[in-house]
Amino acid sequence: MIPREFEYHAPKTVPDALGLLKQFGDEAKLLAGGHSLLPMMKMRFAEPAHLIDLGKIRELKGIREEGGTLRIGAMTTENELIWSKLLQDKCPLLIEGARLISDPQVRYKGTIGGDIAHGDPGNDHPALMLVLGASFVLKAATGERVVPADGFFTGSYATLLKPGEIMTEIRIPVPAPGTGYCYAKLKRKVGDYATAAAAVTLRMKGETVQEVAIALTNVGASALKARKAEDSLRGKALNDAAMAEAARLVMAICEPTADQRGDVEYKTAMTGEMTQRALRTARTRATH
Ligand SMILES: Cc1cc2nc3c(=O)[nH]c(=O)nc-3n(C[C@H](O)[C@H](O)[C@H](O)COP(=O)(O)OP(=O)(O)OC[C@H]3O[C@@H](n4cnc5c(N)ncnc54)[C@H](O)[C@@H]3O)c2cc1C
Repeated sequence: MIPREFEYHAPKTVPDALGLLKQFGDEAKLLAGGHSLLPMMKMRFAEPAHLIDLGKIRELKGIREEGGTLRIGAMTTENELIWSKLLQDKCPLLIEGARLISDPQVRYKGTIGGDIAHGDPGNDHPALMLVLGASFVLKAATGERVVPADGFFTGSYATLLKPGEIMTEIRIPVPAPGTGYCYAKLKRKVGDYATAAAAVTLRMKGETVQEVAIALTNVGASALKARKAEDSLRGKALNDAAMAEAARLVMAICEPTADQRGDVEYKTAMTGEMTQRALRTARTRATH
C-alpha cells in the first residue's frame, strides 16, 4: 500500500527537531532508520502528516566511553555497533545481539534508538538493554530525563517515551571485566524476528554465581526480566540442575502469542532452551 501524503522535515540539531515536534504535535512522527515506521505507514497503521527525519543530526550518532559508561547516540545503526572496536572490547554482548537482528539491509539503516523506542516485543535490543542495566536519555523542549531500561517497556509497542520527547542517547555501564554473556536467539531463517530468545550476563566467583541477569525476547507484551530465575541462581553452583530450575522459572513467566513461528507451548519450551543455552555459553565466557 501507499502511505498517506506527508511533509518531510530534516532538522540538523536536536533543538530544531524538538521545535518541530512541538509545532506539529500529534500530527508528527520521528523517522530514524524507517524499518519499522515505514512499513506501518504503508499499512496505514501510522498516518503522520509530518515526518521529522533525525538522520541529519550529527550529535545523535556515535559510540564513546565516559567515566565507565558507554554512551551510544540513538541514531547509531546496527552495523555501526557491530563494527565498533570499543564495543568489541567493552561490551561484546551488544555486538552479538546486533548481528542477530534481521539482515544486512536492515542493519545498515536500522538504529539502536529506533529499535528501543518502537517498543516492539519482537525487537532484540530491549532484552539486551535489560541485562546490561542500560538507561535512556529522553529530551524534550522543557528539559531532559534519564530513565532506566528496567521499567521503560510498559507493554506491546508501549514505552515511557512521552509525546514531544526524543531519545538521544543510550547509556550502558561498562560490564565488569570477566563478565560472561550470551544472546541465544531462535529464529526460523535469516531476517526473521525471534521465535524466542534469551539474553544473559553472568559474573562467577569460583564455581558460584555472583551476579546474573536474564531477559527474554518475544514471549510477552514486552521484553521480560526473569527475576525469579535470576534469584534462583545467585550464590549457587551453575550446574545442570540449577540451569534446569532457572529454565522452569523462566517458562513460568512466558506469555507468547501463537503465530506462524509456533504455538504457545513450543515458544515457551524454546524460551527455556534458549535460557539454558545462554547460561551455558555465558559460563564458558565468564572469567574469575
Ligand atoms: C524484515 C525486517 C526484519 C526485522 N527483524 C528484526 C529483528 O530480528 N530484530 C529486531 O530487533 N528488529 C528487527 N527489525 C526491526 C528493525 O530493527 C528496525 O530498524 C527497528 O525496529 C526500528 O529502528 P529504526 O531505526 O528503523 O526506526 P524507525 O522505523 O524509523 O522508527 C521506529 C519508531 O521509533 C520512533 N523513534 C525512532 N527513533 C526515535 C528516537 N530517537 N526517539 C524517539 N522515538 C524514536 C519512530 O517515531 C517510530 O515510531 C526488522 C525489520 C524488518 C523490516
